[in-house]
Amino acid sequence: MAKSSYIEPAPIKDRENPFESMMSRFNEAANVIGLDNETYEVLKSPVKQVIVSLPVTMDNGKKRVFTGYRVIHSNILGPAKGGIRYAMDVTLDEVKALAAWMTWKCAVVDIPYGGGKGGVICDPRSMSVGELERLTRAYTAALVDVFGPDQDIPAPDIGTGPREMAWLMDEYSRAQGRTVSGVVTGKPIVLGGSLGRVEATGRGVMITAMSAMQKLKMNPLRSTCAVQGFGNVGSHAAILLEERGMRICAISDHTGAYYNERGIDIRAAIEYRTKNNGILEGFTGGDKIDNEALLELPVDVLVPAAVEDVITAKNAGNIKAKLIVEGANGPTSANADKILADNQIMVVPDILANAGGVTVSYFEWVQNRLGYKWSVERINRRADRIMTSAFDKAYHTAEQYKVSLRLAAYIVAIQKVAEAYRYRGGF
Ligand code: GLU
Repeated sequence: MAKSSYIEPAPIKDRENPFESMMSRFNEAANVIGLDNETYEVLKSPVKQVIVSLPVTMDNGKKRVFTGYRVIHSNILGPAKGGIRYAMDVTLDEVKALAAWMTWKCAVVDIPYGGGKGGVICDPRSMSVGELERLTRAYTAALVDVFGPDQDIPAPDIGTGPREMAWLMDEYSRAQGRTVSGVVTGKPIVLGGSLGRVEATGRGVMITAMSAMQKLKMNPLRSTCAVQGFGNVGSHAAILLEERGMRICAISDHTGAYYNERGIDIRAAIEYRTKNNGILEGFTGGDKIDNEALLELPVDVLVPAAVEDVITAKNAGNIKAKLIVEGANGPTSANADKILADNQIMVVPDILANAGGVTVSYFEWVQNRLGYKWSVERINRRADRIMTSAFDKAYHTAEQYKVSLRLAAYIVAIQKVAEAYRYRGGF
């Protein structure tokens, strides 16, 4: 039986303001390249911020009003692109940060999109399928003028997936009186979703991890890894890294972390999760440890693939991994960056490491516009090429400016958006 009792939003955890975290990196990169004031002012301000109230009939017959957001940070390089998050601790500041990260992410991998993000304050795990469908349709109806294949193209994020994207596509299409598959990506394959999209973010994490390990002269066959988060990103990253010969010693989800020095059988963990209501609770392939302890394990590579601000000034000094590959958006707070740099830990930043998802979203949108379907081999080959060259570009930029890979990725992105802005101009 699905529950639908109202739950107050959880208080924001001990976390930094994600928008400020994003801005401090943006400021630093803007300083390094001497970005002019006018462009700076334009790039720091989101183009559009929409807040909607969504009255939804719950299964008990009563209406509940949900709050939803959609922020378009930039549409300089093309239509806004970015996911929709369903979670209890969604805030406007978080959505603003995530929207800006999408702008930089799309620019880093050189796809013709701006950045956007959406969120609804809700607890999808406590809602029935019917309630989630009505909520998704209400959200789409409220934003029907914002979304569009040439305006703003949503996709999945935490708490949403192909099912929600199908409802969104259907609701938007009803309003237009025709099927508009290119309004959203991450759809089920039968509705114009792309082969390879589900695993694309995890695959990009694996590809950039391999590039970084090559630079650090680390042999995957002799390296260990801990993956925080076992959702779409973490589980696919884990299985692909394991396929490349790495030993995945720890995995986790919100129920806890599981550690096995000899390596966790990732396929078994995925199978367990699938049979166990989507959670790892009770998994016996490793010893149960704290989620925070996972980050400090003696492993070679750490993949935070859950939520924001898990690596902070408090725990950054305890991290033993030589390489961090950010599967999540914003897992490292700005003031942890320096500690990691001082300890010579290489960080493949979120806007590069997890850009594989939006890259294949772009392929999905292109296929929708062509009315054609590419093979998974073609998708993976093209996405891998884009991710590898984005890594190389960031790496060379880091050497050129003598900055971290994170700052280098921001520099690449800001330079591209700033150049496009100079051509397009304003009022
Ligand atoms: N939500 C994903 C991200 O943060 C995917 C966005 C997209 O495909 O548009 O990158």
